[in-house]
Amino acid sequence: MESFERMYIDGQWVPALDGKTRDVINPADASVLATVAEGAAEDVKLAVAAAKRAFYEDGWMATSPSERARFMFALADALEKRTEEFAKLETQNNGKALREAQCDVSDAVACFRYYAGLATKPHGQTFDVADPMQTLVVREPIGVCGQIVPWNYPLLMAAWKLAPALAAGNTVVFKPSELTPLTVIRLFELIDAVGYPKGVANLVLGAGDTVGHEIAANCDIDKVAFTGGTKTGRSIMMAATGNIKNISLELGGKSPNIIFADADLEAAVDWTLFAIFVNQGEVCSAGSRLLIEESIHDKFLERLVERTNQIKVGPGLEEDVEMGPLISETHLNRVLDYIELGKKEGARLVCGGNRILDSSLEKGYFVEPTIFTDTSPEMRIVQEEIFGPVLVVQKFKDEQEAISMANNTIYGLAGGVFTQDGAKGLRVIKKLRAGITWINAYNPTYNEAPWGGYKQSGLGRELGTFGFEEYTEVKQININLEPSPLGWFKER
Ligand code: NAD
Repeated sequence: MESFERMYIDGQWVPALDGKTRDVINPADASVLATVAEGAAEDVKLAVAAAKRAFYEDGWMATSPSERARFMFALADALEKRTEEFAKLETQNNGKALREAQCDVSDAVACFRYYAGLATKPHGQTFDVADPMQTLVVREPIGVCGQIVPWNYPLLMAAWKLAPALAAGNTVVFKPSELTPLTVIRLFELIDAVGYPKGVANLVLGAGDTVGHEIAANCDIDKVAFTGGTKTGRSIMMAATGNIKNISLELGGKSPNIIFADADLEAAVDWTLFAIFVNQGEVCSAGSRLLIEESIHDKFLERLVERTNQIKVGPGLEEDVEMGPLISETHLNRVLDYIELGKKEGARLVCGGNRILDSSLEKGYFVEPTIFTDTSPEMRIVQEEIFGPVLVVQKFKDEQEAISMANNTIYGLAGGVFTQDGAKGLRVIKKLRAGITWINAYNPTYNEAPWGGYKQSGLGRELGTFGFEEYTEVKQININLEPSPLGWFKER
């Protein structure tokens, strides 16, 4: 067991003001992995004051883009050198299979490099408006940004938040999930080591209703960026009204993965596994509703169940493991409750459905990959985000029915279509009310492309140039090229 009982505030590693700590659990065996500091609202206030000083008084807002890029490239290099150590720690804390954690670290490195590069690229516009006026549009950092992330991709979500914010010249108060702070603590050690000025990036650890709430409500924070559940997003939005904060929200989903009868069956089955079972189904964009064209339903499902039953579940650090444990006992029980609910609602369980209680896994939070079919659209297991390895199947007759079923939830995060008819694929995707979509694939994510949802899946976009712009204010500068009196009011 390790001890990390410090938070990073104003360039110093400090304990929580009231000295509280929290145990961090390894979900593969319920052992205590580490003890960390447990901050509260007063710790957030110190971090906000430091971030404000760093932004206005110490001059971070005026640093050149190339200087910000230099810090960020150094951070990316430092992280890359320690890929294996970070990946192992991520697997221990989150549970995910090691090969996934390795991808997360390299994606985080790539994200820091992408935004380091973007910092120095052109961002403004100029307009020739009415002669003799010239208008420039410049992008400026917003100020102090509060950032709150969940436990499913602890390091990667930190990269998605910190990279654009710091590259755009903001200062940051960052809160990881209280369940998964370990790789983020290590990341802040690297932020310190590469020499970011004090107060530019601050780390406060603790619970959502204390530290998270203070970040959302604090009137010296200019923007709050949140990733997590839709219900939490709503309360953050309300808490942020005090100073009309700029807000971006990446929330939940119940995304459709649509399989047409003309799809390449083997490829579609294979991608369907990746759509729902990668990261134990704890993925906001998971293809958690599988819409299958009626004529191939039985054949497709038979092959899908056969492949699903072969998924190797176990502790993420073990060789060949493909699916790890769920994040916590509370979350395990929530997922198991949904499975019971599905049975009660009359859906047919075609595989999985149980906690895994083999002697080597019984202490961990393992659940079998699970599939329900014979569902109807109003069932709660069809409408609500389960956030685990539970797939619900819906049958459709034609393209029109597929589209209306696909759009029939409060969410609009992601969606996929499998067909060999290119025009049909694009036609259907264009009618999906969702921000992230794929044709003949599901889930690959790119730093270059905007990430975010329609409807109750969020506000704003991360990644790409869109994600950078979310961390900037836009200013118009109007210049009179022939300075002389206007003469609107007569001199009498
Ligand atoms: P959560 O909403 O419970 O918690 C997310 C973060 O918010 C945590 O750091 C938590 O401590 C904090 N928090 C909780 N209550 C708070 C409050 N009242 N005020 C401020 N902060 C608060 O979500 P979770 O269970 O950690 O993560 C799962 C959810 O995240 C799922 O709904 C999933 O879809 C969503 N998610 C979305 C995306 C996306 O990009 N759209 C990505 C990953 C996860």
